[in-house]
Amino acid sequence: MDSITRKAYAKINLGLDVIRKRPDGYHEVKMIMQTVDIWDLLKFRKISNPGIFLSVDQQEIPAGPDNLVYKAAEMIMQKYHINSGVEITLEKHIPVAAGMAGGSTDAAAVFHGLDQLFDLGMSLEQMQGMGVKIGADVPYCIMGGTALSEGIGEVLTALAPPPACTLLIARPDISVSTKLVYENLHADKLTKHPDIDGMIGAIRERNLAGITERMENVLETVTVKAYPVIQQIKKAMLDKGAENALMSGSGPTVFGIFKEDRTGKEALEEIKKQGLASQVFVTAFYP
Ligand code: ATP
Repeated sequence: MDSITRKAYAKINLGLDVIRKRPDGYHEVKMIMQTVDIWDLLKFRKISNPGIFLSVDQQEIPAGPDNLVYKAAEMIMQKYHINSGVEITLEKHIPVAAGMAGGSTDAAAVFHGLDQLFDLGMSLEQMQGMGVKIGADVPYCIMGGTALSEGIGEVLTALAPPPACTLLIARPDISVSTKLVYENLHADKLTKHPDIDGMIGAIRERNLAGITERMENVLETVTVKAYPVIQQIKKAMLDKGAENALMSGSGPTVFGIFKEDRTGKEALEEIKKQGLASQVFVTAFYP
């Protein structure tokens, strides 16, 4: 096999809690991760020229060693002493710097892609062990689906998928730095924590209302304060009948959960009409 193509799926956080800041500066989290049907496309081709040749279809994204795709490829090629080269093209669809793990999921796709292309026989655990050095969300992206993520994001427990619903994703036209959001969070001063264990129970029972009533993200305390448009998008979704709406990750993307496609689409039109976000998608959980 000389070339393969892979989709790299985005994630949202149905719940996100920060337990504490560790002495080494990392934050200990407790999050419910969910893959959604929005993806980047990566094409891998084996070439005889040694090296990594990456091209990206968006100019603002680095196409060199700063790209997480490049970092993952470099790590794998070094570890497995691969002397030939690889050409990778990355087609971006996932909103960038948006709280949807775009870069992390691209890196995860590189582990699966190069494993197949070079027939490396890597286990998921091996991929995750290497992936966490690239980013805390990479181990989750390597497995995908619904999962509880703990530690700094590397302690993962697979969960059953939640019931199907219509998902509206809206990304306002601002970029948020994950690092800055965490730096401005005072984990020890949080007065309220999401009921993550209760949400796990609701997922197990396939109880959509039990899930949506527990949707909470402690990072909203930082990002929403800085960007009121996030609150406006949440309100527009709720006014149009969302079961609930929440910021994903460190933001600024907001997702709303709807029981019907029709109300989801109405909310999309409303958000566009009010000019709150230009990247708006009606989608679903994946798989
Ligand atoms: P997370 O949810 O994990 O915090 P994010 O959605 O906030 O991720 P990304 O889309 O991964 O953030 O991108 C953040 C920054 O990382 C971008 O501004 C970009 O410069 C850089 N970057 C590196 N590799 C990639 C990639 N493959 N795709 C997108 N951005 C990348």
